[in-house]
Amino acid sequence: MQASPSPSNRTQGRQMTIQTVGVIGAGTMGNGIAQTCAVAGLNVVMVDISEAAVQKGLATVGSSLDRLIKKEKITEADKAAALARIQGSTRYEDLQKAQLVIEAATENYELKLKILQQVDALLDPSVMLASNTSSISITQLAAATKRADKFIGMHFFNPVPMMALVEVIRGLQTSDATHDAVKALAEGLGKSPISVKNSPGFVVNRILVPMINEAFYVLAEGIASAQDIDDGMKLGCSHPIGPLALADMIGLDVCLAVMEVYLKDFGDSKYRPCPLLKEMVAAGQLGRKTGKGVYSYA
Ligand code: NAD
Repeated sequence: MQASPSPSNRTQGRQMTIQTVGVIGAGTMGNGIAQTCAVAGLNVVMVDISEAAVQKGLATVGSSLDRLIKKEKITEADKAAALARIQGSTRYEDLQKAQLVIEAATENYELKLKILQQVDALLDPSVMLASNTSSISITQLAAATKRADKFIGMHFFNPVPMMALVEVIRGLQTSDATHDAVKALAEGLGKSPISVKNSPGFVVNRILVPMINEAFYVLAEGIASAQDIDDGMKLGCSHPIGPLALADMIGLDVCLAVMEVYLKDFGDSKYRPCPLLKEMVAAGQLGRKTGKGVYSYA
């Protein structure tokens, strides 16, 4: 659990103090971001398309906070205070209270474009807009708004309340003031941000997914068994999980899609997806979610 900064620690951007954060999307990442902000003492407006989605997001925050109570990381009173700071809504207009709005809706370029254009038109020009996208160009999303200097990538990791990293991604036109304010906010949330230039996969996934792809080549070439490949990376590199078991967790289809983006965007054959990975996806062996990937799951 991250440290909870006192309200006096709240981020002082060069433009304004962030007291309220808007979050678009109440799914896996959106509710995690909302929880993290609320626990740190910020007010949150969390918007989704339906009341059911909003309520599901709020319920997830509630059960996540319950787990923290069980672990004696927070008290019942902390939980009540954090929940009281989150307003659920189905109206983008409610985001007007925020000084920073973080878009964490479904990973779809056309959808994100539509959302950002609608929200951009509603917000005061001083408000900063961030996207939690994993794969879409921050420069391209920024260009869809009238505030490209105040647009930035804020890539949280799953599960948000537990993971320390936030990649703070600068698009071509992101200003220093926006970068500094968002980085300071991430620190205020108890996270450890790194600064990244906009590029496919940013830093972590750019390194991680080709490593997973290479593990499939090693497996396909019969160099070692799946278990020995994973044990090798755990014991030899202190990774908490082997690359093939991780692929099963992420989803083999997701790994393949990411490699295809790198191959296309960089135009470099070093990113070619391993044929075995393609075969397994074609067979519907996508990992844990289908009960079988590299390993079988009962
Ligand atoms: P998710 O499917 O769990 O949640 C997406 C939410 O967006 C849903 O609740 C959906 O109803 C909502 N939504 C759809 N259209 C909307 C609209 N027009 N307005 C408001 N809300 C809308 O997805 P997720 O895993 O939370 O991913 C969200 C974003 O975070 C994506 O861009 C994804 O790439 C990124 N991301 C995901 C992970 C991960 O591990 N899941 C990690 C890092 C980043």
